[in-house]
Amino acid sequence: MLLARHGYRVLMLERAEFPRDTLSTLLIHLRGMELLARWGLLKDVLATGCPPLTELSFSAPGIRVEGSVPAEGDARMVCAPRRYALDEVLARAAVRAGAEFRPGVSVTGLHREDGAVAGVTCRAAGGRMTVERARLVIGADGRHSTVARLVGAPYTRWDGRLTRAWYTYWSGVEGASLRLFLGAGLGGAAIPTHDGLTLINVQLPVGHPTGERAERDRLYLDLLARASPELRDAVAAGARREDRLYCCGDLPNFFRRPYGEGWALVGDAVLHKDPMGAQGIADSFEQAALLGTCLGDALGDRERSAAALGRYAAALESRFAAPYEENLLHARLAESEQVMAGLRAVQDDPRFREAFLRTLSGATEKQNEVPRMA
Ligand SMILES: Cc1cc2nc3c(=O)[nH]c(=O)nc-3n(C[C@H](O)[C@H](O)[C@H](O)COP(=O)(O)OP(=O)(O)OC[C@H]3O[C@@H](n4cnc5c(N)ncnc54)[C@H](O)[C@@H]3O)c2cc1C
Repeated sequence: MLLARHGYRVLMLERAEFPRDTLSTLLIHLRGMELLARWGLLKDVLATGCPPLTELSFSAPGIRVEGSVPAEGDARMVCAPRRYALDEVLARAAVRAGAEFRPGVSVTGLHREDGAVAGVTCRAAGGRMTVERARLVIGADGRHSTVARLVGAPYTRWDGRLTRAWYTYWSGVEGASLRLFLGAGLGGAAIPTHDGLTLINVQLPVGHPTGERAERDRLYLDLLARASPELRDAVAAGARREDRLYCCGDLPNFFRRPYGEGWALVGDAVLHKDPMGAQGIADSFEQAALLGTCLGDALGDRERSAAALGRYAAALESRFAAPYEENLLHARLAESEQVMAGLRAVQDDPRFREAFLRTLSGATEKQNEVPRMA
């Protein structure tokens, strides 16, 4: 969308047919909301019927912090749209900006000219193969990125898998706020989404026993009861499970090399984090903005493009390296005395509380403001 708004000819190839759901606990952090607002898309996302979340709470054993989501630009709420709604809003916006969108088309290979990447080969429904030539191939194709594999982009950092996410959707859960919790070596959240449903996620360390598939429904409820007595009570007080249990253990933490001659990676393809911090969607928005800003008018000029992609790589490192480390810490689900002392300080001191609520909402720190593009 941003590159099309900038005047480039953009072709988006998408393997799936929309609308389709995808594994996610859906929460868009405040800085992601601010980018949606800046791009004129927040109203479209809210128009899908996804409830704005303006209040949030955090609980851990003996600790409770609650308050309002702070403001960031025009955004004063977070939200959690189902991905069949969000992804469609984003694809439509790109098309409105002039991009061509071809769903049901898989990228299967690279087209090279003089050794440099100069396009892709792809397969449409029915098996028809085509070659699409391009000055830049952007792999925005997720953590198992085909583009990353085809160009041989190495991991520049690999920290393995730390947690699993187990979640499902409930109706009849009292309360319309975002509730985050840590307890019994587990983490998680209750996240209101479309149709009066609340997604309740329990995040468990990878080493935690998971039992046989048939036992997991019961285990999920046991884990929820241990991690958040408040939510156990909310569920026991007449909530109804409306979907199957989704169990996702494929949550690696890595950075990949972000670019080469004729190609670049954004989103999960370049940087994947454990969803414990729920940062992936906002990060992929920011990375799209960074890549677009760095490219500016440079595409088409080989030297300027290479310099622009070098700037993009440097910007990724300086913007995302520290939050990546913090996210690893959260995903270790530590309840050490030091962590608990910090949380008690947050609970007891209004100044720390405000900063904590900003962090939980995913507000941008001043030094990390996203550059403007389009
Ligand atoms: C269990 C779980 C919970 C999560 N919870 C949150 C959360 O609460 N908040 C948050 O911000 N983030 C969360 N995330 C992370 C978030 O989903 C991702 O960070 C985000 O979707 C990244 O967007 P992306 O566009 O890079 O990749 P994706 O959303 O994965 O999109 C990639 C697209 O590329 C397409 N594609 C793949 N291969 C090809 C190919 N060969 N040809 C054509 N198309 C292809 C796919 O069909 C897909 O549509 C969660 C992730 C998981 C797994």
